[in-house]
Amino acid sequence: MAAATEVAPGAELAAFAEAVSGCTRCALAHGRTQVVFGSGSPTADLMFVGEAPGFHEDKQGVPFVGGAGQLLGKLLGGIGLTREDVYVANVLKCRPPGNRDPQPDEIEACESHLFRQIELIRPKVVATLGNFATKLLSGKPAGITRVHGREQEVTLGGSRVLLYPLFHPAAALYTPRMLEVLETDFSRLPDLLGRRIAPPAPPTLVPRFEPLVPAAEPVQLGLF
Ligand code: URA
Repeated sequence: MAAATEVAPGAELAAFAEAVSGCTRCALAHGRTQVVFGSGSPTADLMFVGEAPGFHEDKQGVPFVGGAGQLLGKLLGGIGLTREDVYVANVLKCRPPGNRDPQPDEIEACESHLFRQIELIRPKVVATLGNFATKLLSGKPAGITRVHGREQEVTLGGSRVLLYPLFHPAAALYTPRMLEVLETDFSRLPDLLGRRIAPPAPPTLVPRFEPLVPAAEPVQLGLF
């Protein structure tokens, strides 16, 4: 019997990263040093999605390597994890000039890259960092201040995942109160990772009633 072809974990993700490295779907391609695809374990149960690469990320080709990234590493350490245990990506894979906000057309051009990453990694929990990732992946307009720390089951990349919105670490860098909230929200991650996520509910069945007396053959009445 022919042996089943096994694909090494991460091989498909690496091939996809290679394909995305030449992306020219939006104007950000002109100003970037390189595409910042994502980093970490290709089989991570926990995936973080931030906003877009900044100056340092654009230079190094790795997400979250600046100040916000240092804080992310610290927060992970607080729950016994490292960057190698998780996967980290962004809504946009290329740096917006001057670190401005992502524009709707850029998000639209880039979003299928993120959905494909989620499909390949198949995380259990997707933690969105800040407004842009939260709005994109929840499909809802509610801002991060309202929804942080509140998990919801959603289907992303074809699988059921727990979506868990968090404040962006950059916002917590200089605001102690926000850092406290972020730490509290982070502390729930181990529990969320241990949760069983129910498969989507089957479509509601509409009961079919069999008539007690078989219906008579339809008879076309005379028209005249
Ligand atoms: N902020 C982000 O959202 N992503 C990064 O990669 C760095 C900072």
